[in-house]
Amino acid sequence: MNNANTKTISDEQTLRGAGVRVTAVRLMIWRTIHREFSGIFNLAELEQKLPTVDKSTLFRTLGLLSENHLLDTIDDGSGSQKYCIRNPEDPQSEMKHVHFNCRICHQTVCLTEVTLPEVTLPSGYTVEDTEYVVKGVCPKCAGK
Ligand SMILES: [Zn+2]
Ligand SMILES: [Zn+2]
Repeated sequence: MNNANTKTISDEQTLRGAGVRVTAVRLMIWRTIHREFSGIFNLAELEQKLPTVDKSTLFRTLGLLSENHLLDTIDDGSGSQKYCIRNPEDPQSEMKHVHFNCRICHQTVCLTEVTLPEVTLPSGYTVEDTEYVVKGVCPKCAGK
């Protein structure tokens, strides 16, 4: 019981710490993402987990969580926007991880142990977003 209570506080603190104004529905969406997905997910998959929340609310909340660096958006070339938790261990961290897209099975996976190197741009350029998708063959397909 006590444990569950601690968890409630920490989810709220995570959102607040990231600069997100906490509402019941945002908290529910964030918790669902945390509980249900360990890697990459898309809007349709989240919709299945939360059939009571309308799609535009889900979409807006995903955008908000991405803007506040809790989620990463991934464009893996599949044409549909995908998301993942930027840093499940430490949601406050600004550190991004690398994604790998397999050209044979077309799966995109999070390589959370590989973090993005800092990119230094010439003066006058401002970084707003960095995305790092490595393409190749995954261990499963390489073994076939
Ligand atoms: Zn593969
Ligand atoms: Zn990821």
